[in-house]
Amino acid sequence: MEHTIEAYNALVEKLLALSVAYYDNDAPLVSDFEYDRMNNELKRMEADHPEWIRPDSPTQHVGGHVSEAFAPVAHEVPLESLQDVFSFEEVAAFVEKMDTAMEAAHDYVAEPKIDGLSVAVEYRDGRFYRGATRGNGEVGEDVTENLRTIRSLPKTLKKAPPRIIVRGEVYMSHDTFRTINARREMEGQPPLANPRNAAAGSLRQQDPAVCAQRMLDVIFFNIQLAEGVSYSDHFETLEAMAAMGLPVVAHTLCKTPGDCTGAIEAIGEGREGYPFDIDGAVIKLNDLAQRAALGSTAKYPRWAVAYKYPPEKKPSRVVDILIQVGRTGVLTPKAVIEPIRLAGTTVTNATLHNQDFIENLGVNVGDTVLVQKAGEIIPEVLEVVKKQSEGAFRFPAACPACGAPVVRDEDGAAIRCTGAECPAQRLRNIVHFASKDAMDIDGLGPAVVESLDKAGLIRTPAELYSLDAKSVAAVDRMGKKSAENLIANLEESKSRGLARLLCAFGIRQVGSKAARVLARHFATLDELMNATEEQLTAIEDVGPVTAKYIVDWFDSPQSLHQIRLLREAGVSFASTEVIADDRFAGKTFVLTGALERFTRSEAEQIIERFGGKASGSVSKKTSYVLAGANPGSKLTKAESLGIPVITEEDFARLIEE
Ligand code: NAD
Repeated sequence: MEHTIEAYNALVEKLLALSVAYYDNDAPLVSDFEYDRMNNELKRMEADHPEWIRPDSPTQHVGGHVSEAFAPVAHEVPLESLQDVFSFEEVAAFVEKMDTAMEAAHDYVAEPKIDGLSVAVEYRDGRFYRGATRGNGEVGEDVTENLRTIRSLPKTLKKAPPRIIVRGEVYMSHDTFRTINARREMEGQPPLANPRNAAAGSLRQQDPAVCAQRMLDVIFFNIQLAEGVSYSDHFETLEAMAAMGLPVVAHTLCKTPGDCTGAIEAIGEGREGYPFDIDGAVIKLNDLAQRAALGSTAKYPRWAVAYKYPPEKKPSRVVDILIQVGRTGVLTPKAVIEPIRLAGTTVTNATLHNQDFIENLGVNVGDTVLVQKAGEIIPEVLEVVKKQSEGAFRFPAACPACGAPVVRDEDGAAIRCTGAECPAQRLRNIVHFASKDAMDIDGLGPAVVESLDKAGLIRTPAELYSLDAKSVAAVDRMGKKSAENLIANLEESKSRGLARLLCAFGIRQVGSKAARVLARHFATLDELMNATEEQLTAIEDVGPVTAKYIVDWFDSPQSLHQIRLLREAGVSFASTEVIADDRFAGKTFVLTGALERFTRSEAEQIIERFGGKASGSVSKKTSYVLAGANPGSKLTKAESLGIPVITEEDFARLIEE
């Protein structure tokens, strides 16, 4: 990159924007590897032109802000970052620097660097008192209640000083990450991107109950402060924490530079054995008095470095390209390759992402490609190193699982199966059909659906209505009573009406809100089925893309088969979404906080039935903010814009009048 001040400023802005996505929104836009590459470029520019350095440059402060959603906690001892190095030469240079700085003998401690979220946890009189995120290093966010849900966090310590603050890393274990993603996939929710962001996003949830479901873990690596106790070295503090009952990071004492690089290699080779992701190894000076003498820069201590492992890459030959159909219907191509050893595992498959990716690489069966595995990320094909075939692989026009036509997403590169009865999607389709916002069939969660499927009783949502109590009772984990209840609940669900049925179909972009809009315009399913794209687009809130998805869905033979079965079963196709009156016409409501009398979706439905709109964010156009208990930042925003704030009682009065 050109070293001009304009290029420098542009790079600072870019990295700041990426940091907001990563630290504040827990949703990174680029890989850490890519971020580190740009950050290193910035460091080079700053080394060449120290006069350019801006105080807000990411090299000058700890990343991350403190969200207003949590109470601030001032860190008595700052939570610093670490200086990164990417080669053994740089590790040797660090050791040499330490040798020059200190005459006295000194040794080091090597630890794995856990890729999670840093927290400071305080214990008073041996009891868990408070915990906070790193935030900007000086001030963090109070996440005490969320931390309390973590089982591996001891709530009491053995023989602890009267007041102690320890620093550790909250993480989501690989097992938990896999379990949660399998569940989310089944429920039709997007998967969590990676364990690090999953952990950060979970710990920064407003509702501790949600955090509890994420089954986080914690492990400690530093004593920040211990009242009335003095330790002489870091190794001793780690042993002391373990003796108090805290889970403590693995640690190796290193005496020579060779010991340091040896420990880094050993940690890298053993990375598969940890229950968490690691993104490096940390080498820390052991002696605490020596550390204090060396001090810190604005961002990190001078007495430690974090070695970042490079992602491993190797060539291999593509022996086949397979298309997998995910539970959301997306077709994902993967290359089957001749087996290679990468990052401690044998790799036989690598993702090819999508058709665009394949075309850009020009890859096909027979080519030799470069494969990369970075940490826990699924191995991916990076480039073709030797072209040994004709052209690029082409996606099939029909779904390999059910033969229905495939379509490309309007807004992305994904190619999707349109089959309403596609076996690859059937579990998810049935779970969605039965879910709260759809047909709301009590007792038909993912586990029961899986058991019914295993027993061969259902293949599609419509087949639910031909179940009988006797065969259901014979299914694993069911029993007579729950089978009878399920049949009764299925019977009751037949009269839910058009809006819920439309939502249950799982047509792309037709969630519960769009389904209610449609059900207000069409009295029956048959009327909707006869509507053209033009007629649908004419409805406010229905765009051309959604209109096309609807028409295509009703055109498919698999959909028509479902509809026939539902009609035969006596499921109501009539709309119940009559507009009561239009007292809220032209009015927009925003809901915040916990409501007691209504669920959020009930309140939204009431608003819509009276001709109003429910919106997710406060703006000048908002007519009312309906605030329940513990309202969030929306309330503050409403007050600053002078928008009327009403209570649940006020709302009840408005609808009862
Ligand atoms: P860092 O994550 O590289 O290092 C500091 C952190 O390491 C500390 O906060 C600490 O919690 C943690 N840590 C884990 N194990 C430790 C141990 N044994 N001893 C000491 N500390 C330990 O530094 P950072 O400044 O927090 O963040 C930079 C990282 O964030 C980089 O890896 C970068 O790639 C990533 N990042 C990515 C993006 C993106 O868009 N992908 C954006 C910003 C930052």
